[in-house]
Amino acid sequence: MSRWHIPSMKLTPVLLVLLAPIAFAENPTVVLTPLRGHVYVAEDYFYSKENSVVYVGEGFVTVVGATWSPETAKLLATEIAKITKKPITEVIDTNYHPDRAGGNAFFKSIGAKIISTRMTRDLLAAHWDEMVRYVQKGIPSYPTLPLVMPDKTFAGDFELQAGRVKAIYLGPAHTPDGIFVFFPEEKVLYGNCILKEQLGNLDFANRTEYPKTLEKLKRLDLGFTTIVAGHWSPIHGPGLIDQYLELLAAKTR
Ligand SMILES: [Zn+2]
Repeated sequence: MSRWHIPSMKLTPVLLVLLAPIAFAENPTVVLTPLRGHVYVAEDYFYSKENSVVYVGEGFVTVVGATWSPETAKLLATEIAKITKKPITEVIDTNYHPDRAGGNAFFKSIGAKIISTRMTRDLLAAHWDEMVRYVQKGIPSYPTLPLVMPDKTFAGDFELQAGRVKAIYLGPAHTPDGIFVFFPEEKVLYGNCILKEQLGNLDFANRTEYPKTLEKLKRLDLGFTTIVAGHWSPIHGPGLIDQYLELLAAKTR
C-alpha cells in the first residue's frame, strides 16, 4: 500500500512536507515506497533530502539517480532487496552532481552498470572533485568521494527496460546536463533536480534556458499524470512545471 493517495491526492503536498522531515530528521535513512506499476520512489534523507526512482522490471532493476553516497546507495539496495529478488543491473546518473552520482562506487561494486549521457560523463570527468568540495562547503559531513565514471554512455536520449524507461534531454536547466526520465506505462515523469516545489540551488543553472527547457517538456505532451520531484516532497501533478516556471519568473522579476 502506497503512503500516498496518488489519483485523488488526498494527502496535500503541504501535509507531506510536514510529515516527512519530522519522521526522519533524527536518523537519516532511505525509504522506498511503491508509486505505481513498476515505479517506486526512493527518499534519501541524508545531507540534503533527495528523491530518486527505482524501476523494478520483468528481469532486473533500474535505479534512476545513484543517491548521495555509497552508504545511501547501500541502504537503497537493502530496501530494494526487501521488495524483489531481481538484481540491480543499471543505475542512471541523471546529472553530474553528487546527489545523482555519489552512489556510483557502491552500485558498481554489486555489478551494476552506471549509465549516463556523454554530457554527464564529460562533466563528471571535468568537475567531480570540485563538486564534492562545493557540497562540503554547505554540508561538511559529506564524504570526500573519488570520481567513479559511468560504464555506458549515450549521445542523447536513451531507453532502458525495453522502452519502459525513457531518458529525455531537453536542454540546460538546473545543470547543463540534467535529464528527465519518463515511465510511459505508469504515466510518471521523474523531474530530477530540475523540477521541485522550491526554487532550490541555482548556482549551476542556466537561468535563460531553464524556462525554455521546461516549455519544451510541456510541448512534448507526454501525458504523465504524476511528477516525482528530485527534492522536497516527491509526489506532484503535472502542474509542478508551471509552478516552477512561476518561481523562476518571480526570481528574475
Ligand atoms: Zn539535486
